[in-house]
Amino acid sequence: MTNDPAVVIDHPAERVGRITLNRPETRNAQNTELLYALNDAFDALAADDNARVIILAAAGPHFSSGHDIYETTSPDPTSLAAATKGHRQVGTWSGYDRPGAEGYLAREMEIYTGFCERWRSIPKPTIAQVQGKVIAAGLMLIWPCDLIVAADDALFCDNTVNMNVNGVEWFGHVAALGARKAKEMLFTADFISAQDAYRLGMINHVVPRAELESKTLALAAHIAAKPSFALSLAKESVNNAEDAAGRLAAQRAHFAMHHLLHWHNVARFGSLMDPAFYQKAPRNKAPEK
Ligand code: ZN
Repeated sequence: MTNDPAVVIDHPAERVGRITLNRPETRNAQNTELLYALNDAFDALAADDNARVIILAAAGPHFSSGHDIYETTSPDPTSLAAATKGHRQVGTWSGYDRPGAEGYLAREMEIYTGFCERWRSIPKPTIAQVQGKVIAAGLMLIWPCDLIVAADDALFCDNTVNMNVNGVEWFGHVAALGARKAKEMLFTADFISAQDAYRLGMINHVVPRAELESKTLALAAHIAAKPSFALSLAKESVNNAEDAAGRLAAQRAHFAMHHLLHWHNVARFGSLMDPAFYQKAPRNKAPEK
């Protein structure tokens, strides 16, 4: 482990703020510390007048290997609650150390779906800058962003069915891919290439890996020159259209079933996910290509 900060903020151009996930040694696996650091960084740039557009980038060869499952394979509420200690709670769910489903539901309401909803609602354009693998909860970092620019080596997958779960906590699959491809992504747990993700409308641009940073920055600077209030309300209009079409109701139904499977797994295996999956995965490493 290093003492490097979990995320880094900079301003790579005038009126552009950038957050970089900074756990490359774990392929930016999302533990509680990283998620709170990311949330704090989004809050800081949301309030920063010199950040009209926010880029979310990641250090290392892969954008994110997903949740740090070695933190959450246990249903023990005390150990999971301990991970949130010292962090500024931003939602209204609490009692993470309560036994049974109660504490764990509260935790996922706070740091998973709660964070995703907060980030989707930031009243500034956000752009995910993506390279390498984006696995499972990695999608929960890029899908709440408004735009996605991907390198030609980017690969996307939700492999949670392999863990006996029905998809990551935040249900962006259908909006990102359409119903039929969303089902294939979930059923097969296979990777989707950057080219296919572009063709399906999940990402805005595919660029050569060497040009990922410059092209994303150029897009951000282009947008940042526009009137900021109009940008905020243009974003609101699109987000409201998704919500009016039932996005949040679908999210809540998905999340309830997600928890049904967590506690089905606890009843069957004593673990929130089928241990047959994660016992095979090397600690803190993304699966090999
Ligand atoms: Zn979960």
